[in-house]
Amino acid sequence: MRKKQFKAESKKLLDMMINSIYTHKEIFLRELISNASDATDKLYFKSLTDGSIDASELKIRIELDKDARIIRIIDSGIGMTAEELESNLGTIARSDSLSFKKENENDENLENIEVIGQFGVGFYSSFMVSDRVEVVSKALGADTANKWTSEGVDGYTVEPCEKVERGTVVTLHIKEDNENEDYSKYLEQYEIQSLVKKYSDYIRYPIVMDVTTTMPNPENEGETVTETHEETLNSRLPLWRKNRNEIKEEEYNEFYKQKFYDYSDPLLVIHSKTEGQATFDALMFVPENAPFDFYSKDFEKGLQLYSNGVLIMDKCADLLPDYFSFVRGLVDSADLSLNISREMLQHDRQLRIIAKAIDKKIKSELAKMLKNDREKYEKFFKVFGNQLKWGVYSDYGANKDGLKDLLLFKSSNGGYVTLKEYRDRMADSQDTIYYACGDSEEKIALLPQCEAVKERGLETLYFTDDVDEFAIQMLIEYDGKHFSNILKDEFDLSTDTEKEELNKKNEASKELLDKMKEILGDKVTAVKLTNKLGSHAVSLAAEGFMSVEMAKVLSQMPGADNEIKAQLVLEINSEHAVLDKLKGADDETLKKYTNIIYNQARLIAGLSVENPTQLADMICEMM
Ligand code: ADP
Ligand code: MG
Repeated sequence: MRKKQFKAESKKLLDMMINSIYTHKEIFLRELISNASDATDKLYFKSLTDGSIDASELKIRIELDKDARIIRIIDSGIGMTAEELESNLGTIARSDSLSFKKENENDENLENIEVIGQFGVGFYSSFMVSDRVEVVSKALGADTANKWTSEGVDGYTVEPCEKVERGTVVTLHIKEDNENEDYSKYLEQYEIQSLVKKYSDYIRYPIVMDVTTTMPNPENEGETVTETHEETLNSRLPLWRKNRNEIKEEEYNEFYKQKFYDYSDPLLVIHSKTEGQATFDALMFVPENAPFDFYSKDFEKGLQLYSNGVLIMDKCADLLPDYFSFVRGLVDSADLSLNISREMLQHDRQLRIIAKAIDKKIKSELAKMLKNDREKYEKFFKVFGNQLKWGVYSDYGANKDGLKDLLLFKSSNGGYVTLKEYRDRMADSQDTIYYACGDSEEKIALLPQCEAVKERGLETLYFTDDVDEFAIQMLIEYDGKHFSNILKDEFDLSTDTEKEELNKKNEASKELLDKMKEILGDKVTAVKLTNKLGSHAVSLAAEGFMSVEMAKVLSQMPGADNEIKAQLVLEINSEHAVLDKLKGADDETLKKYTNIIYNQARLIAGLSVENPTQLADMICEMM
């Protein structure tokens, strides 16, 4: 019998296939099972209009022969004639399954089946693990069977052979192990069981295999007995394909916990069917807690990607924006081809459309939760709110508009507020949104400036996360209102007359204030009297763009070798008795007083004291 050559371009393709298209050799099993499922689907499709076809007990069988190093994948599908073996397996990148779908495009029965293949390369993945592949097939209605044999690039043969039942048997002769690759593992029953679970769990036909279990002998202690049973390896039930109203909450929860190894039920389930530019099902979950490795550099975001129920990728990062990296779940689309590598996926237009739709969906579901279940949303926000704030800040604010209404901040009114809620209850006279930064709500509430703002009946947002002020800077404004840091020097609530009065006081104390500035040197840019500290004596306010909090955050960033400093103004309450003390002090005492109040102001602002011992000594001396 003459060996036939693969078509020239096929040869090159085959070589490429075997060596580079797939990242994981293990996917050969998924490809062969998908083909068996397609062939079974095609038969089932025919049986719908032809009563003479026996389409009962359709299943896919896997057989392992460890000693002979053989894996068989057996189906009772439509089969292939000798010509079909030639054309389908002899030409790489020729998919009969794709033509089948095209030919029957307008047949309404096609909705009942789910043909997976469309690329015409999957079959050749078997050469990644086999040094010889035989395909014995008997087509529906044919009297004879044929055998296709190949050892890879060299070519293939087709010859008649014996086979009684309709369908196809693919026999893989598994390669010997070498130092780089352990091929023998594919001959282990456990490995096959887990590969089927991983990639082909939702194939709609049963995938069966004889499974041998060893257990203690109940009659004879210390002895074991082995039993072999045919078992169905796949669960066959893609939950996401069912209608939402047919699925109970517990089903979602169990599915989530099992699939994503979580102990807690998810906080939010998002199940959607999308049709239009892209057709896909998505089933996504917002966990109750951050995964244990969420903040480590090993954490990988992404959704599982399925093509018609067959897993293509475990963590498709391109499907999720960074600010939703906590979302777990999967996307199943018939528009994607199985045989696609990570690199190719990145440029896939279809995938980008899906990613966009998913982003929108998650946002709208979170917005719904915020509106309908505030308590739950606050629970969510405590765990993952930071991600959303970083989302506003990163990429130069490209995503801020979609995220700003999902943000929550603590405020002086108690509890969390959205920017919209703050905006809606702003006083008519108030033209900016007030905020203050600090380590904790409690500490911020105690700041002199905060007390003063509160006394006027105004609300302040409390920024306690490093990212808060950066995110707000990126927002620039909310509904036409800008943001003001009440800890900044320029922040001023006083009336024109109050301002004028203060100016006069500053003029009158100029000599004293200049002296104090001289004492402090470049630690501060100015020393001023102020009327915004309520009953408190002193504070430090930042001047210019950089706030005290931002300087702190930036200094702590990896790679910042110099401490970044805000420009500070020492503010003294113009009404406070301490002013008289300062005025009455001689030069030597003024030096001490100035240093003491400067350091006190640092402490109030949440900054460290440069020389605590010296400060303590000075205070004791005064006492
Ligand atoms: P694809 O599945 O993308 O079409 P493959 O390389 O996996 O590409 O398979 C090529 C073609 O070979 C299929 O389209 C199908 O026509 C045929 N084929 C492969 N396996 C079987 C099988 N088990 N039964 C019948 N036909 C098969
Ligand atoms: Mg295929």
